[in-house]
Amino acid sequence: MVSERSQVLIAGGGIAGLEALLALHDLAGDRVAISLLAPEPDFSYKPLSVEEPFSSQPPEHRALAPVAEELGARFVQRGIERVLTDDHLVELDDGSRLAYDVALIGVGGRPRPAFGQALTFRTPEDRWRIAALLKEAAADPDVRRSVAFVVPASNTWPLPIYELALMTGRRAAELGLRKLSCTVFTPEAAPLIVFGSVATEAVSELLRARGIAVRAGVRVHEGAAGGLIVTPGDERLEATDVIALPALEGPKIAGLPSDEQGFMPIDEYARVKGVDDVYAAGDGTTFPIKQGGLATQQADAAAEHIAARFGADLDPQPFHPVLRGMLLTGEESLSLSHSLAGGEGEGSASADYLWWPPHKVSGRYLAPWLEGRAVHRDPEPPSRPLEVEVALPTEWHEQPMALDPHRGPEVD
Ligand SMILES: Cc1cc2nc3c(=O)[nH]c(=O)nc-3n(C[C@H](O)[C@H](O)[C@H](O)COP(=O)(O)OP(=O)(O)OC[C@H]3O[C@@H](n4cnc5c(N)ncnc54)[C@H](O)[C@@H]3O)c2cc1C
Repeated sequence: MVSERSQVLIAGGGIAGLEALLALHDLAGDRVAISLLAPEPDFSYKPLSVEEPFSSQPPEHRALAPVAEELGARFVQRGIERVLTDDHLVELDDGSRLAYDVALIGVGGRPRPAFGQALTFRTPEDRWRIAALLKEAAADPDVRRSVAFVVPASNTWPLPIYELALMTGRRAAELGLRKLSCTVFTPEAAPLIVFGSVATEAVSELLRARGIAVRAGVRVHEGAAGGLIVTPGDERLEATDVIALPALEGPKIAGLPSDEQGFMPIDEYARVKGVDDVYAAGDGTTFPIKQGGLATQQADAAAEHIAARFGADLDPQPFHPVLRGMLLTGEESLSLSHSLAGGEGEGSASADYLWWPPHKVSGRYLAPWLEGRAVHRDPEPPSRPLEVEVALPTEWHEQPMALDPHRGPEVD
């Protein structure tokens, strides 16, 4: 009987929520009755949205209701508004309430434009605007066009800006647009420095080879008199088009603790600090790098802890963040690994995949699940990966902001 089982409520049908659902199904089995809640009916594989302007294919979507059903869970298409932690209840966006024994909050972050005067890469419409920009440039190839790709200071996952710049450059070359130039503006000390020096060197080399300029270590902000200003130097950002990643705010779930930006503080088992029986994973937490692979690792740590407390025979492992990234370039592939664990030096570069299946998000459960039901099984994908692996310090949960994603982790 479902009602006799412990009630686990997963809020969020994104990367963290789905990984948690798959992991709990595997680890806790019939010990728990799972409800999956999300306001949207579908899971959307956001990391692949960078390809849409160039392929005209929207990122992969999966309907959540049949997935939940197949995994013995129920799907409730509602958002949570508030958690009544004393009563073990969540309040939904229609005012109804659901009881839980354990809740796992994976509701993501809240992306918002960082600049009023830029094309923020956020929605499907933005993706079409990039496609339209290239079409416009192709219609007038003799007109000089400079495209700025900007990472706002508050965005901690810069990889998509490099993908957009590389794929724009690639498409411009295919279209013979010799007067279109691309420049990346980023607060990182060097491109993808969070992955370590080997990755940075490889990415910098790739960008150089593709003729993409980089202004690293700079911050872009809106000037008082309008326009975008680059500091240091306080010069005007001169470009015909500006494409920016969004800034990310926390979800500020009422009833749960959050920092000043609305992100939930968690410990090494992804338990929300100061609250009983509530876990959180993914972009909505205070972990400084908001990335899908890390979201799955937090979800796994939570799922193991939850399964063990309901009697599963396992030794729950704390969240040990390992950053894995796959850079879509529209062309050549290059794989790198960089393990800082134990001070192993600067890492290595390889043409091989670093994890399998080689999905963009390297979730223990999510990647094989996506692979098992892959919509496209193209042995020769048009986009080839740059893969990078780096272990992050384990003491992040004590001082999460000690890890500055724009500087890169410290090497012992
Ligand atoms: C363009 C782009 C490229 C990226 N590339 C990569 C990459 O290459 N590799 C990588 O690892 N990561 C990448 N990321 C980051 C990755 O997508 C995020 O880190 C990841 O999606 C975070 O997972 P999440 O589950 O926390 O949030 P999300 O995946 O955003 O899911 C949030 C879920 O919560 C639901 N929700 C929202 N509000 C509520 C509510 N109140 N109640 C219940 N449910 C709610 C949403 O509908 C959604 O189902 C990329 C992101 C972008 C935007």
